[in-house]
Amino acid sequence: MKITDHIKKADGKTLFSFEIIPPMKGRNIKELYDNIDPLMEFNPPFIDVTTSREEYVYIDRDGLLDKKLTRMRPGTVGICASIKHKYEVDTVPHVLCGGFTKEETEYLLVDCHYLGIDNIMALRGDAMREEKYFEPTQGGHPYAIDLVKQVQNLNCGKYLHEVIETDNCADFCIGVAGYPEKHLEAPSLKSDLIRLKEKVDAGADYVVTQMFFDNQKFLEFVAAAKAMGIDVPIIPGIKPIAVKRHLHLLPQVFKIDLPQDLIDAVDRCANNKEVRQVGVEWAIAQSKELKAAGVPVLHYYSMGKSDNIQAIAKSVF
Ligand code: FAD
Repeated sequence: MKITDHIKKADGKTLFSFEIIPPMKGRNIKELYDNIDPLMEFNPPFIDVTTSREEYVYIDRDGLLDKKLTRMRPGTVGICASIKHKYEVDTVPHVLCGGFTKEETEYLLVDCHYLGIDNIMALRGDAMREEKYFEPTQGGHPYAIDLVKQVQNLNCGKYLHEVIETDNCADFCIGVAGYPEKHLEAPSLKSDLIRLKEKVDAGADYVVTQMFFDNQKFLEFVAAAKAMGIDVPIIPGIKPIAVKRHLHLLPQVFKIDLPQDLIDAVDRCANNKEVRQVGVEWAIAQSKELKAAGVPVLHYYSMGKSDNIQAIAKSVF
């Protein structure tokens, strides 16, 4: 079922959902299930599964280092299919421009269609670790909007090289990313919102936001988006702070601000167990306020461990 239909069906009730990361290559998928299991009592209608960019690894061959390009967390579509089957929930694969040719994306979308996956999160992806800026992959898309257009074309039976007569057209619901504190490369919040509007005009059905820790920023973002004519559901992404290092890492990687009260509370913690508790309490307060404001879904970034998300959901849902 489409995310937008889940939202319509909920009829104003805020839904619970979360995002997971595929395990490192070679790890057992059971670890992933062990983290999903405790969250199923909160009835998520959908679960997102991220995709990781390829990266360089160095393999020691008798003292000489061999540089190889590989994807360390493969399996997004397979995991989507397996979770969908095991828990009977919808799954949303994150599909990236970076690291994929348009042709490979078409094959991936065809796989998703055959597997009964109804939703696609269309993203550009970040620069590779070695790159300063995002470089489009040869034969791939430069921006998420181009990927949205490819998925929309497929929905109309338009494949890359031909229009195919079919009675079995894909009908993907398309999610895109939005940034309450603007995307790190965007020259201004306004110009980033213009880009977001372009993605919606190209066929995106809903927006999931980057994490934020100050609800006011999200609410202002939603108001500005609405004023610009963006009338699709905007789903807030919530990440509980889990370790002291996040105070520096999150602003550096995502170019977001942390409220001073949160910074002070984390600074007062003697260890990361206490930090995790502060993160849970902050996310509960954020979630309750957003729920009262009528957001359609509260979407949590689990980063592979679910105990904190479970504690939040227990208090909010
Ligand atoms: P775009 O919408 O293409 O925007 C990228 C930048 O280009 C923005 O600054 C925008 O303003 C600008 N822009 C857009 N169109 C144009 C244009 N035509 N001309 C000039 N500038 C333009 N990353 C992963 O690698 N894997 C994931 O699974 C993943 N999941 C995510 C989930 C969510 C909810 C979010 C918010 C982010 C996720 N990301 C993920 C990170 C995302 O890939 C990065 O933030 C990436 O840098 C931008 O992706 P985008 O889809 O927003 O790009």
